[in-house]
Amino acid sequence: MYTGRSSWKTPIQYLGDEDFFGSRVYVKRDDLIPLSFGGNKARKALLFFREIERLGCDCIVTYGSSSSNHCRVVSNLAASKRMQCFIIQPREASQETFNSRLIDMFGAEVTSVPAADVHDAIEDKLEGLARQGRRPYFIPGGGHGNIGTSAYVNCYEEIKEYEAREKVYFDEIFLASGTGTTQAGLICGQMMHGDERKIIGISIARKNPRGKEKVVESVEEFMGEKGLGINHDMIEEHTIFVDDYVGHGYGCRSEAVDGAIRDAMIDHGIPMDSTYVGKAFDGMKRILGNQPVKGENILFIHTGGTPLFFDDLGRWGGNALSRPALVRAA
Ligand SMILES: *Cc1c(COP(=O)(O)O)cnc(C)c1O
Repeated sequence: MYTGRSSWKTPIQYLGDEDFFGSRVYVKRDDLIPLSFGGNKARKALLFFREIERLGCDCIVTYGSSSSNHCRVVSNLAASKRMQCFIIQPREASQETFNSRLIDMFGAEVTSVPAADVHDAIEDKLEGLARQGRRPYFIPGGGHGNIGTSAYVNCYEEIKEYEAREKVYFDEIFLASGTGTTQAGLICGQMMHGDERKIIGISIARKNPRGKEKVVESVEEFMGEKGLGINHDMIEEHTIFVDDYVGHGYGCRSEAVDGAIRDAMIDHGIPMDSTYVGKAFDGMKRILGNQPVKGENILFIHTGGTPLFFDDLGRWGGNALSRPALVRAA
């Protein structure tokens, strides 16, 4: 696989304002990054592999659940480079999914351990490999860390280019926020440009204050490494982490989320999964519905997860997502 390039610019698609209470909604399709079904983990992994090649490491250790988009992309890139990839997986989250089948296809060696032992299992794996004279590279789960953050500073630059070219300014940017690296990268980009706008992370699992604190930490870490100066209060002010739509936690579904996924697929032809993107898209719609200001330009970052969309579809069957009127007509 040729991965000499470390990013692709993804399209921004206008969805109109009819379904969004008068706000003009655009979607940045990072799910269409042309590598292993794309997504934010592809954008991050490309930069991690540039670092791995720079350091001359010869194998990779990372961790994640069987539904992890990160593990799928990393094990695909590793296989394409004929590098061994070791994945530590929490046993509690090891059911078969499309991502786990792909991870098998890529020949990654998965070690499943109780969640409480993941940390030790990673240490053991890294030490064992080093003892054998190997040079393992460890990628934190989800592509967390400054390299992952910088992938979304790059994404912010793409957004700026689009705005300059299309003469549009996004008043608000929404996205699904998990570990917070993706949001942190966007906030760093915003601060580096001094742009006034809101970047709103919709939490898919964490509650505040911890969720927000994690994003703030990632911003500080990145700005610190780049020597860009850290103003803690300013970073706090720029970090909007909304935990109102977490529901019963990571991976939980609700009728509202199912509805948002159905509408996005039927009305716009855009697949969204229920763990991340559908949940955030639903949260965004509800926020827009409650906002008195109309006519603003809104950008939603589609962070990917196409295989998860098919997991959901398999579990529900297509009819479960159909609009009742359409089912009757058929
Ligand atoms: C991992 C993931 C996220 C969350 O990204 P973070 O950088 O961890 O906040 C959002 N959407 C999808 C589809 C993901 O796989």
